[in-house]
Amino acid sequence: MDAGSWDYSLFWNEAMKQVEEEVSEQEFAMWFNRMAYSHAAESQIYVTVPSSFYRDQVKQRYLGLIEQKLQDLSGTSLSLEFDINKSVSSAAADQESPKARAAATSKKEPERRPKKPHPVLREEYTFDNFVIGHNNSFAANAAMAISRNPGTGYNPCLIYGGVGLGKTHLVQSIGNSVYQEYDNLKIVYVTMESFTNDFIQSIREKKTQAFKNKYRYADVLLIDDIHFLQKKPETQEELFHTFNALYDSNKQMVFTCDRPVSEIRDLTDRLRSRFERGLNVDLQPPSFETRFAILNKKIERSALSIPQEVIELICNNVTTNVRDLEAALTKLIAYADLVDKDITLEVAKHQLKDFFASPKQNNVTMDIIQRTVADYFNLSSQDMKGKKRTKVIAFPRQIAMYISREMTEYSTTEVGLEFGGRDHTTVMHACQRIENRMRTDPTLEPTIQFLIRQIKEQSTKS
Ligand code: ADP
Ligand code: MG
Repeated sequence: MDAGSWDYSLFWNEAMKQVEEEVSEQEFAMWFNRMAYSHAAESQIYVTVPSSFYRDQVKQRYLGLIEQKLQDLSGTSLSLEFDINKSVSSAAADQESPKARAAATSKKEPERRPKKPHPVLREEYTFDNFVIGHNNSFAANAAMAISRNPGTGYNPCLIYGGVGLGKTHLVQSIGNSVYQEYDNLKIVYVTMESFTNDFIQSIREKKTQAFKNKYRYADVLLIDDIHFLQKKPETQEELFHTFNALYDSNKQMVFTCDRPVSEIRDLTDRLRSRFERGLNVDLQPPSFETRFAILNKKIERSALSIPQEVIELICNNVTTNVRDLEAALTKLIAYADLVDKDITLEVAKHQLKDFFASPKQNNVTMDIIQRTVADYFNLSSQDMKGKKRTKVIAFPRQIAMYISREMTEYSTTEVGLEFGGRDHTTVMHACQRIENRMRTDPTLEPTIQFLIRQIKEQSTKS
């Protein structure tokens, strides 16, 4: 049989019908309306999707489900291949809820002057100031789509990623954009921490109704850093009700988190499932090109001239997050301002020495940490990894483990391995012990700070 004679479209259509019954309407509109059967080969179905991000998301979320359905229907295993075709109609994106239409009618005319800044949102957190790269384009595009039609397609949306990667910037950009574009939409931005404090205070002062009014009448509710919910059952309960109230009336919610929701400990299942219900998108660390573009954008705004080789130097050395990248630049600009000097490569190298040696920049090795701590306590590196559990060795070993977690990106499992193949729970336990002890023993923290400085010094030399 030649490739042209395979046709699995009946199975495909039936599988889609079944999927539609199983997933929520919103999910189906978002992910399945823009996927189309294209053609087939033996045991293979080719479908078109609008972008590679879309493909990856569909694969991650639904590939298993779709392939299972196809197998059940056809009795044979059919695999999916994705072709990217930008012109696949965007039914989901084009769909507008009545609310969105109503809101659109009150959309500001372009010639009107911008409003005064929003009282809570930071003015510079806008989409214009956000540089898009491979690491963040899915999240940024989702955020922009939300700000055009709040409460319609991507609700709720959860943006997650490590520290300094732009979560707050993006979520506030949504707020700023909706605020500028729509009249009469109430935008509430809050960190999970303030929400929690607000909630506690409202109970204490018996003003729970006021609290409810503040959050449950938002048209766009933006909550930053929901990982703060960990181990706070009452706040979780309250947020659960807030969520339901807003969701039922098609109000937009956007959350940020420093990790995937599945990794928040002690989160009730029902709240977890609600966060996961809409669109979850992640932010990754930026590539060199994106870092370069971000710095150039900042420089443009500061109207300073900084040689490209200096920018390259920073981009090559500060790799983990955007906040550190900006901080390095800010330091240089401040220096140039204060001493009225040009920023040359030499000046930059000298001024940013500490930055580049900063702990999270991977110069710090486990070996340096173990050696420095062992030296300080008159022990050997071997003792750190060895089996002995006498107090004289166990305590310094715990300090070294604690410092390893503070100064490197190693997980507790990895740290455990470096310390003679110990279990990750041993490392967690050690960190806990040190933290507790720091609270009761005022000499411990200065000792640890001293060790950290020594380790930094050692790391710049190596
Ligand atoms: P997070 O909330 O994820 O910890 P932030 O949103 O506070 O990170 O970002 C840290 C800093 O980096 C902010 O000043 C922000 O403006 C900037 N930033 C992050 N990502 C970008 C980007 N893609 N383009 C421009 N600036 C960015
Ligand atoms: Mg933040």
